[in-house]
Amino acid sequence: MNTKEGYLKFHCKLEKSGAVIPNNLFSEINKWRSQMYSLNLIGAYENGIGFGNISVRVPETNNFYISGSATGNFKKTGPEHYVLVTNYNFDHNSLNCQGTIPASSESLSHAAIYEADEEIMAVIHIHNMEMWENGLDKFPTSNPKCSFGTPEIAMDIAGLLKNEATREKGIIIMGGHTEGILFFGKNLEGAGNTTLKYYKKLTND
Ligand SMILES: [Zn+2]
Repeated sequence: MNTKEGYLKFHCKLEKSGAVIPNNLFSEINKWRSQMYSLNLIGAYENGIGFGNISVRVPETNNFYISGSATGNFKKTGPEHYVLVTNYNFDHNSLNCQGTIPASSESLSHAAIYEADEEIMAVIHIHNMEMWENGLDKFPTSNPKCSFGTPEIAMDIAGLLKNEATREKGIIIMGGHTEGILFFGKNLEGAGNTTLKYYKKLTND
C-alpha cells in the first residue's frame, strides 16, 4: 500500500444491479481470463489478495467492462464477476460502476489506456515477478515514482502511449508497481496474444 503524500484512497461508487456484461463479450473475456488464470498471471497470493484484471472497451466510449474486485480468488468466473465502469476521475482516484460487485482498484490504469488511445479496445493487467524483472526498462516502462492511487500514473501512461512504438508493442511495464504489467490491443484476442507472446519471451518456462 502506497502511503506517500498525494495518495488518495480508491473510491468506487457501485450502482448495484444484476450482471451487466453481454453474453458474447462474457464468453470472450472469460476465455482469455481463464487462460491468464491457468498461467497464474491473474490469480491470488497465498494471503488471499487477488491480482490481475482484464477489461474490454464499450465501442466509441471510454466505458469498459472489467473483472471485479477480489475475483482473482476464483478459478472460474461468471458474468456476475464483471462490472461496467461508466465514469472515473483520476484526480480523486474514484470511479462509478454498475454490476454486482465493485470494480478493481486498478481500473483507473485501464481507463488511462483507453483514454490515451481510442484504437485500444482491450487491456490485460497481470502480475509476474520474472516477466517484470526481465522486461523492466527493456520495454516501455512507466515511471517508478508513479504508483497506483495517484493522478500521475494515468498521466505517465498517457505519455508513454503517445509514442507509436509503445502502441505497437502493446506492453507497459509498471515501474512503480512491482510485478505489474499492462498489455493491450485492438481487441481481446490481440491483447491476449500479446500477453502470451511476452510470457514466452520473458519467462524461462
Ligand atoms: Zn497490479
